[in-house]
Amino acid sequence: MPERSELHGYQINANDARDLAKADLIVGLSPELEPWLADWIKANHREDATLWLTLEARPTIQVIGKQSAPDPHVWTDPILVLKIIEKLREKLQSLYPRASMEDGYNQLVKDVIAVDNILGRSFALIPINQRRIITQHANLGPFAHRYGLTIASTILQSTSTEAADPSAKQFSKLLETIRIQGIRVVMVDDGQNDTIAQQLCRDTGLPPPLQLSFEFLEPKGLEGGTWASMMLRNGRKLQAALLKP
Ligand SMILES: [Zn+2]
Repeated sequence: MPERSELHGYQINANDARDLAKADLIVGLSPELEPWLADWIKANHREDATLWLTLEARPTIQVIGKQSAPDPHVWTDPILVLKIIEKLREKLQSLYPRASMEDGYNQLVKDVIAVDNILGRSFALIPINQRRIITQHANLGPFAHRYGLTIASTILQSTSTEAADPSAKQFSKLLETIRIQGIRVVMVDDGQNDTIAQQLCRDTGLPPPLQLSFEFLEPKGLEGGTWASMMLRNGRKLQAALLKP
C-alpha cells in the first residue's frame, strides 16, 4: 500500500499487478478489509501464493444496542499484532528455511510490546466515564477492547470506509447517543469526508472531530511512518482528547 493510501477502496495499478504476478508470496490482512486484493487474487488464480493474516478469534465491536460483528482491523491491538507477526514468520520460514529471521523477529516483538505498554499506561489514566467514543467506520474494536474504551456507535454502519452516509434517522440516533452517553470525542479517519461528523459535533456542542490515521502509514521518516509510531501518535491524540476537561 502506498503512503497515506486508503486501505479499503484501493485500486491496483499496472505496476502493482506486475509485482503481484511475480511475487512468491502475497500477504494480505483479510479479504473483507482488502476486497480489491481478494478480487485480483481470485481473477489471477494466485490463491496458493497468498497468505491472509486474518485471525480466527477476533474481539467484536462493542456497539451498544446492536449485534456485535467481528472487527477485522486487527492491527489496532498490539496483542493481535504479535499473533500476526508469528503467523508471518512461520510462513516466511517455511518458504525460506535458510534465512535467519530470529533477530528481526525478536526486535519486532519487543517494539510491539513496548507500544502496548505505553498505550496501556496512558489509557489507564482516563476516568471510566470518559471512555466512550464514536468512530467514523467500525475500525477500532480491537483497540477499544485492549485499552478499555467503548465504541458507543459508528457513523458509517460498516467495517469499511466505502459505505453509504447515515440516513436522517441514523443521524438523529447518533445525536441522541452523544447526548445521552456523554460522548466527548467523535473520531474521523484522516483523509475521509468528515461532513457528517462535523455536523454531529456542531449540533451537540462538541469540539470538532478528532482526525486519526489508523488506516495508513505516513511517508517513511515522518511521525506515523511505522506501525509503532502510527499507534503511539494516534493513541496520544485520542488520550488527550478524552482527558480534556
Ligand atoms: Zn478500516
